[in-house]
Amino acid sequence: MKAATGVKVVNGIAIGRIRICRAPSYDVDDSSVADTAAELARFEQARIRVRDQQRLLRERALQNAGEDSAAIFEAHELMLDDEDLIDACKEIILSQRHTAEYAVREGFDDAAQMFRDMDDPYFQARSADVVDLKNAMLDELLGRGTDKMQETEPFILVAEDLTPSETVKLDKSLLLGLVTREGSSSSHTAILARSLNLPTLIQCRDIADEWDGKFAILDGCNSCIYIEPTKDLIDSLTARRNKDLKEAALLRQLRGEPNITLDGHAVRVFANISEPADVSAVQTNDAEGVGLFRSEFVYLNSKTDPTEEEQFEAYKRVLEALAPRQVIIRTCDIGADKTVDYMKLDKEENPALGLRAIRICLTRRDFFRRQLRALLRASACGNLGIMFPMIISVREVRECRKILEECRRELEGEGVKMGPVEVGIMIETPAAALCADELAEEADFFSIGTNDLTQYTCAIDRQNAKLEPFSDTHHPAVLRLIRMTIEAGHRHNIWVGICGELGADLSLTEMFLRMGVDELSVNPKSVLPLRRIIRSLDLSRPAGQALMPEE
Ligand code: PEP
Ligand code: MG
Repeated sequence: MKAATGVKVVNGIAIGRIRICRAPSYDVDDSSVADTAAELARFEQARIRVRDQQRLLRERALQNAGEDSAAIFEAHELMLDDEDLIDACKEIILSQRHTAEYAVREGFDDAAQMFRDMDDPYFQARSADVVDLKNAMLDELLGRGTDKMQETEPFILVAEDLTPSETVKLDKSLLLGLVTREGSSSSHTAILARSLNLPTLIQCRDIADEWDGKFAILDGCNSCIYIEPTKDLIDSLTARRNKDLKEAALLRQLRGEPNITLDGHAVRVFANISEPADVSAVQTNDAEGVGLFRSEFVYLNSKTDPTEEEQFEAYKRVLEALAPRQVIIRTCDIGADKTVDYMKLDKEENPALGLRAIRICLTRRDFFRRQLRALLRASACGNLGIMFPMIISVREVRECRKILEECRRELEGEGVKMGPVEVGIMIETPAAALCADELAEEADFFSIGTNDLTQYTCAIDRQNAKLEPFSDTHHPAVLRLIRMTIEAGHRHNIWVGICGELGADLSLTEMFLRMGVDELSVNPKSVLPLRRIIRSLDLSRPAGQALMPEE
């Protein structure tokens, strides 16, 4: 038995034979041509035909793989009309007197490289689209067929990376799982994997040609693929897969059902996300909205300070995809465990107690304003909420809201359209929980960040695994602060949610509902299990003794 590891995109277990999908190779004639007009005509004909193919692929993707995949082919149609790309290819034919095939290879390779060199991983991943279109153009010019893989049995697909048209041409009914050597969380492999909910590993560097046809188990949960596994491993992972499949089918039945207890008490169940690619998980798991969009990805994925435009595009993508659902975007929470070189933050003795999150934003006003302007501009594209992390005082909230208002007025002056925005704060420190009455006067909502609230209340560094024996995730002090926060919020008529990990702790759901929490925002995978628990509760019956933290 051999094992290889990668980065998991989708959990789950796939068991079956491996099929390796190899990238096509082309023999392109690089000699010079006499009749450049004929080559220009060939180029133009191929471009029109490939554009028609993309339209057909879009229709097929819409039926087989969903809207996210279909949108890729719509983008391809636009790329094929891109004047810079067309002019670059025509220029190679005219001035260098090369064939249409040669011009396509050079012109499209240059465009793919340009995408690869970009900072934003979303745009880097778009280089695969250009390569895909190059292959389609070369297939057309060289008169090659583009038929799908001829498989008759279910299989685990292994490839260097998958292009959009490869993914759409695959027979999805036979696909058990995906493993690629390349790829990122916004690559086509990842998009396909999420929309089909297939166990998937990317960046699996040890892929080998000799795997082709071999029996394997892909264990998405452990980010591992086993080639020719032992009988014991097959038995134990088969049993686990069957249990997972049964559970997933039961949870699927809850899609579309309300989050309401037996006695009619409704609570909102939202999802936490960390990047635009997580949108499909929100949809698949039927979350009512996004209660925490950690905006750090724009900073962590960039080599330089992200521009207002880059941030606006990312927020817009998520808001548009999820409208009319509410999306609450948390402003920058860099610092402590999340650092980026270009911000040149000072080294600190106690970074968790240092210059982080809102403290950085209030220190670097231009940096903060860029994010707030991007957010306000994006508010026209959907239902936006903004929340500020690590707040400890009324003064901070007022200052944040003042800067937000200044940005709004500035944008109004520029004639920019904006939508209404709820503005809330995170309750992540004992100081904030204890001053919740005063803070509630300044905010439209509270979202309790139990990860930091636990760390700061119990003085337990959340990054330090050695403190595990001292940590108590259900510490009564934390539960009491949560209850105080909810009660204070309600006294001032604002809603209160929980967006830290504790919100997904099913053993606490009844307690949180009895405390009156209005919203629970959890990782997308926990949305349906949480709905199941909520629907089984009856709050009209007396609570057990252990269900409320002591006074
Ligand atoms: C929290 O602290 O509970 C929280 C949701 O924020 P993060 O985990 O990103 O610090
Ligand atoms: Mg936090």
